[in-house]
Amino acid sequence: MELEPLRDGHGRLIGDLRVSVTDRCNFRCQYCMPAEGLPWLERSGILSFEEIARIVSLLSAMGVHNVRLTGGEPLVRRNFPELARMLAGIDDVHDLSVTTNGFLLERDAEALVAAGVNRFNVSVDSLQRDRFFELTRRDALPQVLRGLEALAAFPEAHPIKINAVSIRDFTEEEVLPFAQFARRTPYQVRFIEFMPLDADHAWTPEQVLSGEEIRAAINLTYPLEPEPREASATAQVYRFADGKGRIGFINPVSEPFCGDCNRIRLTADGRLRTCLFSLRETDLRGPIRDGADDRELEQIVRDAVWQKELKHHVGEPGFVQPARSMSAIGG
Ligand code: SAM
Ligand code: SF4
Repeated sequence: MELEPLRDGHGRLIGDLRVSVTDRCNFRCQYCMPAEGLPWLERSGILSFEEIARIVSLLSAMGVHNVRLTGGEPLVRRNFPELARMLAGIDDVHDLSVTTNGFLLERDAEALVAAGVNRFNVSVDSLQRDRFFELTRRDALPQVLRGLEALAAFPEAHPIKINAVSIRDFTEEEVLPFAQFARRTPYQVRFIEFMPLDADHAWTPEQVLSGEEIRAAINLTYPLEPEPREASATAQVYRFADGKGRIGFINPVSEPFCGDCNRIRLTADGRLRTCLFSLRETDLRGPIRDGADDRELEQIVRDAVWQKELKHHVGEPGFVQPARSMSAIGG
């Protein structure tokens, strides 16, 4: 089935869908969730595997060929590899990836690769056990590193990306260790600027350690050369000038890349979001459970996407942080 491409009101073609498969998580990262967790969604309110597959199938027929599974922590969802298998089997899904904190990768890496997941992003904010604990509120670095190793055994899962949120007065100490890590391992490290999507609403612009500051610091010790930026990519990637590995910077706060954004998001309870910072969501679960056919669903999606925000307004006067935090949106 091929449908007309999905396009927003600013002429951008939509090609990438982030699906949050659960709002639950086994970590409590300071920049994302409060220590006590959040009120979880009712199980009956969460989309079933079949409902997710139906939406992904419809969107992929409209040209949304890249699908990333996230959360919350996607690997805590029961039978998650089975969902991956169902989605990888959809003809128009060309690229299926997972963003995970890595805690359960030692258990699931093999099943996920076998299910057809071909790219992984693993979040690691510190390479020191005590500082990892401080930020995630879980003493889990050794377990996460074992998960990374389990994944590295599968060549079809390479390149494996490691994401570190960059926070002033925390990440500075991590910069050179991560650069050295990226040089001696097969992993590509990417620093992501801290965004105002924390559940505590404690974000301030001063807490953002910019990608440019980190790049300049690394460049002093290990000279870097930019690689061409791919269209709609979130990261600006650099290679080490001596050829040993790559490092990336995702700078949504200091250098927004909204102009060619091709992404939309589906929350675990079936709401379509057209921007990380959207204040408006479109319910797909209700119409699906009320018996909407594919044509009706397609029209609801097209109407929502047409209104996709031109850009986010982080850092501008009057910016309003969305009520949902990153874990509930699906980062
Ligand atoms: N639990 C999985 C994980 O941590 O990789 C997937 C969901 S998590 C919400 C997705 C990504 O969002 C992670 O890389 C995480 O570091 C990032 N993230 C969460 N809160 C953030 C924030 N306030 N600013 C920037 N990135 C954030
Ligand atoms: Fe969980 Fe990921 Fe949020 Fe950390 S960033 S609390 S691992 S959802």
